[in-house]
Amino acid sequence: MFKALVVEKDDDGKTSASVQEIGLDRLPEGDVTVAVEYSTVNYKDGLCIGPGGGLVRNYPHVPGIDFAGTVEASDDARYKAGDKVVLTGWRVGEAYWGGYAQKARVKGDWLVPLPSGLDTRQAMAVGTAGFTAMLAVMALEDHGIKDGPVLVTGAAGGVGSVATAILANLGHRVAGVTGRPETADYLTALGASQIVAREEINETVKRPLEAETWGGCVDAVGGAMLARVLGQMKYGASVAAVGLAGGAGLPATVIPFLLRGVNLLGIDSVMQPYDNRLRAWTRIARDLPMDKLEAMIRPATLADLPGLGRDILKGQVKGRIVVDVNG
Ligand code: NDP
Repeated sequence: MFKALVVEKDDDGKTSASVQEIGLDRLPEGDVTVAVEYSTVNYKDGLCIGPGGGLVRNYPHVPGIDFAGTVEASDDARYKAGDKVVLTGWRVGEAYWGGYAQKARVKGDWLVPLPSGLDTRQAMAVGTAGFTAMLAVMALEDHGIKDGPVLVTGAAGGVGSVATAILANLGHRVAGVTGRPETADYLTALGASQIVAREEINETVKRPLEAETWGGCVDAVGGAMLARVLGQMKYGASVAAVGLAGGAGLPATVIPFLLRGVNLLGIDSVMQPYDNRLRAWTRIARDLPMDKLEAMIRPATLADLPGLGRDILKGQVKGRIVVDVNG
């Protein structure tokens, strides 16, 4: 038997989430069985735990879009019992049972070996949000980061916190946009050299081009904020668009692309091929200072998840929630 957070749907279509003891025979098919140690809470998890089931494809369901743990049994030649592994993406926690459980069974293709320098708890302090932040930084680097501060929107959230710490550690000046002025000290400690109030940027585009200000941008917010930022980028600079915490619409013009050569780079963490995932995790172990990562962590257990799911949907989570599934 093992413990898991199970989401069920009743005959009226109402969903509910509860911690249950379930048998090993209920694990889905897959080549690698993992003793999960840690998972985390991402925006998608909030949707899957919450009313209506969000992105859940089948019931009963175990959410948790990422996890880290130790291989228990493997039919995949790349993994053997005792190996430390991490999983993000591949619709685990949506279409397949995920990390809110003490055991998981998945395809070997979806895993990567934990790079040296990271333990399973640190890997989940990074989690999908931090992994995506690293993908965004790598995309900006591939297109060239220009002189000038790099803007990070939704800075106090999961993606924003990790992006801020990585960029600052790489020597970039980081300007963090936040709607929570009380997080200024936290963001400064992560390495932000400038705090920008959300309302300064989060307003409708008035002029398609403004002063050239940002050498790059990691955008976790989308919507009106992304539209406004496009017109503030330096010539040829890039915006890595990661999320839509502020809305899925994009009330922008094409002018920043035409007259400033701005690049809008879409970042998807879900379907990343193995080599990219391994490269990103290796860079995380190298470029993310572990003391800064510790400052982002809020510990939690399986029983805390329903409340935390509500918090993340309201944009009220600071940093990264690390779920100890054995806690
Ligand atoms: P968090 O909830 O931790 O952070 C989002 C942050 O955005 C908040 O903390 C807040 O930051 C800001 N924010 C929230 N609501 C608004 C609003 N209405 N207007 C402006 N700013 C707002 O989420 P994550 O960092 O984990 O994820 C951020 C986004 O990235 C989500 O949309 C998520 O779905 C997406 N995502 C995408 C991935 C991909 O593969 N592309 C992978 C992972 C996440 P502050 O308080 O500092 O203003």
